[in-house]
Amino acid sequence: MPKTAVFSTSEIIPVPNDADGVSCDGGGGALGHPKVWYGFDGGTAVECSYCDRLFVKEHALGRYDGGS
Ligand SMILES: [Zn+2]
Repeated sequence: MPKTAVFSTSEIIPVPNDADGVSCDGGGGALGHPKVWYGFDGGTAVECSYCDRLFVKEHALGRYDGGS
């Protein structure tokens, strides 16, 4: 196993399949954080290290949402 696929996120954000990456600012307000950019780097999901949101490409949502 190259990487443990365990996420402690409470929110999954779908992103278009052709997206190269996502930007996240925590949604603003009290839960906000400095805007950061994450690249998928060939993967299907990336977790924000600030707010624990998990960004998942639409075609891969089934792996993360209700897959257990
Ligand atoms: Zn975030």
